[in-house]
Amino acid sequence: MLSTEATLRKARNSYYCDWCGEVIPAKSHYMRWQQIDDTWTRTDGYTTGGWSTHRMHPECLEKFLTRGETSFRPQTHERPTKDGESQDKQEG
Ligand SMILES: [Zn+2]
Repeated sequence: MLSTEATLRKARNSYYCDWCGEVIPAKSHYMRWQQIDDTWTRTDGYTTGGWSTHRMHPECLEKFLTRGETSFRPQTHERPTKDGESQDKQEG
């Protein structure tokens, strides 16, 4: 799948995260990239396809990349929590 490299951006407006569907508040940082997609309809009713712009919370993109998949069903995933993952192991 063709896609541009994801870059960290500061939101000028509020957006919806493509991964979890939660709001990306204005002035917060998010990951943005563009890719060629099949057509799909967003939760706000807007149908998009072809070259489309994707926006995710940084932790959501990280989750997506961790899965190693190239496609995903938009706005149907849980937003990863930054808390709850306490890895305090010390390496000797
Ligand atoms: Zn998200």
